Amino acid sequence: MINAPLPPASGLRPGDRLRARGATSNANGRYEATSRAALDDGWDLPHEDHLIRTQVRDERARSALSFNRSPDIPFDRSVNPYRGCEHGCIYCFARPSHAWLNLSPGLDFETQLIARPGLAQVLDKELRAKSYQPQVIAIGTNTDPYQPLEASRKVMREVVEVLSAFRHPLAITTKGTLIERDIDLLAPMAAQGLLRVGISLTTLDAGLSRKMEPRAAAPARRLATIRKLTQAGIPVRAMIAPVIPGLTDHELEPIMEAVAGAGAEAASWIMLRLPLEVAGLFQDWLAENYPDRAAKVMARVRDVHGGKEYDPAWGKRMRGEGLWSRLIAQRFDKALPRYRLVKEMPPLRCDLFSAPFARGNQLSLF
Ligand code: SF4
Repeated sequence: MINAPLPPASGLRPGDRLRARGATSNANGRYEATSRAALDDGWDLPHEDHLIRTQVRDERARSALSFNRSPDIPFDRSVNPYRGCEHGCIYCFARPSHAWLNLSPGLDFETQLIARPGLAQVLDKELRAKSYQPQVIAIGTNTDPYQPLEASRKVMREVVEVLSAFRHPLAITTKGTLIERDIDLLAPMAAQGLLRVGISLTTLDAGLSRKMEPRAAAPARRLATIRKLTQAGIPVRAMIAPVIPGLTDHELEPIMEAVAGAGAEAASWIMLRLPLEVAGLFQDWLAENYPDRAAKVMARVRDVHGGKEYDPAWGKRMRGEGLWSRLIAQRFDKALPRYRLVKEMPPLRCDLFSAPFARGNQLSLF
């Protein structure tokens, strides 16, 4: 359903349905100078199904590494091959970043994508800087590097090629089965203690997943990916993220059992958080897809975030607080040994890092 203003050019009207998209609206990003409003002109036309095609633009990357200083994030640097994500998860906390591009964190986030070709060359240059000190690079913590677009653009594969050549530690987070394509690069990195992978799984219910994460692989397919990676010797953490209180929290133990059966060695969880525009998008989606449970879910969400839809305070934003948060944490901790899962994975190695010869440097040997 389209519940909020959409660009006139889209041809969408309030009440129309979208095929295989997460957001039900395309409200303005918070930095846009103009705003749009849908107007009921009184014509009672039948509502339509719409298929919005994905559009891709290129961005020439000027820098590859982004650094952060958040004390509750276990890495200080990341690389982002794409902006926006076609998987379209309604709860995605990266959605608000699309507003920086003057695009909507709603449908634009999952339909107007930006690829960053040449990122690997920029990364190569940054890693060669004399002052560079290696620490784990996280990829997939903003948008998914193995989203469908990667099949044709291969920006992520090129980045992995560079990191593999530098023997640089890497932590990947994804829902994308395309990661299996790169096992030839990833397995040798894992064997050297340079790689770990997080596969995010929020539910085992294929119907719920299709509505909530419309273009991500189905839960059973993600379990198959965990199996393939672990069989290739790649250590996998299952990330139950987010846990949606009142909608998916009852699945915590079954998910842990399933991922352990597929070979995951570690698991973690993050509470649903709804920063900025995600709060409205998620509530529109709930009202459209689960109207009978919407009030209960939002009451629980506010419960775990101190009465708000989101509390950005460090230390609270990932897990929330209060009774529901404590209950989930206790259940998770109790289930870990039952399924032989651990919370922490061994640290990745930074001591193997070394810059390979750059193309053209061979001449200096003569
Ligand atoms: S796969 Fe990750 S980055 Fe992509 S929409 Fe879903 S949560 Fe966001």
